[in-house]
Amino acid sequence: MSDDLSLHFRTCPLCEATCGLEISHRNGQIVRIRGDREDVFSNGFICPKGSTLGKLDEDPDRLRTPLIKRDGRHVAATWDEAFELIDERLGPIIAAHGADAVAVYLGNPNVHSMSGALYTRGLLKVLRTRSVFSAATVDQMPKHVTSGHMFGHPDLIPVPDLDRTDYLLMLGANPLESNGSLATAPDWPGRMKAISSRGGKVVVVDPVSTKTAKAADEHLAIRPGTDALFLFALAHVLFEEDLVSLGRLDGHVAGLDDVAGAVLDFDPPSVADACGIPADTTVRIARELAASPSAAVYGRIGTHTTRFGTMASWMVDVLNVLTGNLDRPGGAMFPLAAHERPRSRRQFTTGRWVSRVSGLPEVRGELPVAALAEEIMEPGDGRIRALVTIAGNPILSTPDSDRLDEALAGLDFMVSLDVYLNETTRRADVVLPGTTPLRRSHYDFAFYQLAVRNVANYSPPLYDLPEGTLSEWEALLRLGGIVTGMGPHADTKTLDDMMFATMVGSAVADPASPVHGREPEEIMEGSRPEGGPERVLDFMLRLGPYGDAYGAMADGMSLATLETSPHGVDLGPLQSRFPSDLCTPSGSVELAPPALLDDVPRLREAMTGPIHDELLLVGRRDVRSNNSWMHNVDVLVKGKERCTLRINPADAARLGIVDGEVAKVSTEAGSVVAPVEITGDMMTGVVSLPHGWGHDMDGAAMSVASTRPGVNANRLSTGDLDPLSGNAVLNGIPVEVVPA
Ligand code: SF4
Repeated sequence: MSDDLSLHFRTCPLCEATCGLEISHRNGQIVRIRGDREDVFSNGFICPKGSTLGKLDEDPDRLRTPLIKRDGRHVAATWDEAFELIDERLGPIIAAHGADAVAVYLGNPNVHSMSGALYTRGLLKVLRTRSVFSAATVDQMPKHVTSGHMFGHPDLIPVPDLDRTDYLLMLGANPLESNGSLATAPDWPGRMKAISSRGGKVVVVDPVSTKTAKAADEHLAIRPGTDALFLFALAHVLFEEDLVSLGRLDGHVAGLDDVAGAVLDFDPPSVADACGIPADTTVRIARELAASPSAAVYGRIGTHTTRFGTMASWMVDVLNVLTGNLDRPGGAMFPLAAHERPRSRRQFTTGRWVSRVSGLPEVRGELPVAALAEEIMEPGDGRIRALVTIAGNPILSTPDSDRLDEALAGLDFMVSLDVYLNETTRRADVVLPGTTPLRRSHYDFAFYQLAVRNVANYSPPLYDLPEGTLSEWEALLRLGGIVTGMGPHADTKTLDDMMFATMVGSAVADPASPVHGREPEEIMEGSRPEGGPERVLDFMLRLGPYGDAYGAMADGMSLATLETSPHGVDLGPLQSRFPSDLCTPSGSVELAPPALLDDVPRLREAMTGPIHDELLLVGRRDVRSNNSWMHNVDVLVKGKERCTLRINPADAARLGIVDGEVAKVSTEAGSVVAPVEITGDMMTGVVSLPHGWGHDMDGAAMSVASTRPGVNANRLSTGDLDPLSGNAVLNGIPVEVVPA
């Protein structure tokens, strides 16, 4: 072993910002982690979480061997014992009740991991269950729905062209705490500041005067859950004042008149009371949007996790179209990731199947996670009897937590793949240890599709896995072997080769693929010999828009290109992609999809309906936290209590709530008792709690988190949904608050 200090460069996988890290290490120990100043995208930016990446690996609570539950207690087991038990228990459930009796829950970390992105897809393919749930329905599903309807593909998501825009209208987002979401951009603070410095303007619409709102040029406080009304009113003004100008998409937009009709009733005075934003302010913002040389409207989680999440998401993109800012520099643009596959035109649909109990429609191949508990608990044919969770903690992160906890306790069998024995995996019969970020390779499949600049970066593992330990992708393949009847001991290389051969077969058969018509054997033989995620990534890069197409494009990209570029490859600013890359059957932007128009009457009712007298609960982000992750890292959770109930001074005085004391927050779903923080940052009538906390459940084994447990805000969510996307309502929940 060398005593010399070595440097390792990798992309931080802890949030969507994809910062480059420079890791100094010696003899298997991290000496220092700082931002990689040469990273082509992040230029040295780092947040407090990034510098703690090594702590996750060193954590004594991290699972290092599989666990099997015996007599109610988890005990260490070998990998073979774990897979044998899974085979013994899962196989008969599938045989007796069908694949739909086995549900899969995919947690948010899956989109931050190569094996999660590549190999869970393979598992779902062979399992063939329709009972798929994920964190997407407590987050961004409305955006997938509107992208599917408007642009033809649920993953064609426009992002604000932050580095060139003159005007950013941002709703329900707090990137100075979250580091950004559905808009991958390291250093949001710097990029926001640059907009103002070049003479532009940033307007933040949020019920809370967040860190982002304070850094903006203007903050508009809005009543939670009313973003769709405000956005409709902006569109109303554009039509009324003849400010609509489609710009470069003129001639490629269908449904303009239908949208004009849909927003007709939503004039600014009519929505002012509900939104809490004066009509003249709404008119002024609409005029500013239209007059700015370029502008981007961007809505995030606060707009999506509401009763009208899909309506809000739709109108964000409509406004970008109406002002001529969709798909143009400085507007809202579509990234072109190095691994992106050609997409064919097709009709986007939802509801190809529905949930058994409440008849909720499938969206993008999954059901709303808010329905998971009832699908397990309600007796009858088709009941979910087994659950596989992969890198997820739905008991903390999804609605009506107490009920879900009870449901998981009643499963016939549960298997989890995770780094910790957490509040959810404690319910599992078998827990397989996940792979920590420093022991796996990394390429951001999800976030390069959402990046505000086209970039690509690959990170090899820093550390090897200990002898005899399976990586996540191997564990997922072994699970796939079990559900396909190959038994618990199937050879991972054989399984991996089978999966890769299927991918190659599809590519050569696809007329849109650059290797269409070539011999599969030629592609197989020309691929990386080591197999695993590297072979798949290399394959995808070579078939991608910058790829070498297996020799057909001289100087094209492959994984070797990235391996020789430890600071990443800059593929340039975003380029206009429409109309050629539109996937709608019509080849136009569908501005007024019937499914969305049909929901407008429901929104209209909200405009005229009663305004809640109750307090409304919203969520909160913190730069030292990311959902329920990283709460077992002492350096991130120590210090001032972060899981507090924030409340406005006027509301606190009215209710007899005292700063620093505790208050009880209740809904019909449950109640929590949290320490109070009185702050003028909260809009009157609004309180906030962060999510991802509540680490005080028996059976979990996270020693640091359990000393700072916080409270689980999802005990308060009632299971309300946005009907078009199945997304849970987590913002704007009426609550009762009393001194505890
Ligand atoms: S901002 Fe996100 S990607 Fe960057 S260092 Fe922090 S956690 Fe990692």
